[in-house]
Amino acid sequence: MTSPTCVFCNIVNGSAEARVVYEDPHSLAFLDRNPQSRGHLQLIPKTHYRWIYELPDMGGLFTTAQRIIRAIIPVLGADHVIVGSFGREIMHAHIWIVPQYGQGNRITEGTRVRGRGARDDVATLLRTAIKKEVFG
Ligand SMILES: [Zn+2]
Repeated sequence: MTSPTCVFCNIVNGSAEARVVYEDPHSLAFLDRNPQSRGHLQLIPKTHYRWIYELPDMGGLFTTAQRIIRAIIPVLGADHVIVGSFGREIMHAHIWIVPQYGQGNRITEGTRVRGRGARDDVATLLRTAIKKEVFG
């Protein structure tokens, strides 16, 4: 089930562009359009659910998040990753995966990614690392 007005559903069905770094039969991960840090991802179920806790298998999506996070930390050189689910801006369940560099949770300007080329490079880096980690 998808919603035609939902931007995340449109990414799933290919009618909206995204830098996809991971895909399996149930979920999709892509670079956030306005990254709060280098490697900021959104992980979504392919089926439209308003809230993450409405998923038949919320734990499965978090297991996928964990595998993605373990794959990306070393290649990004991130200190740790913030994981969150808010769901107030996009009405399609999603998990924020936001790498952090340095002390605490403060997002510094230096870790932001500017420009199309730089974002493509990050997408390629993460896609390769995740493929290796998740699919061996
Ligand atoms: Zn949707």
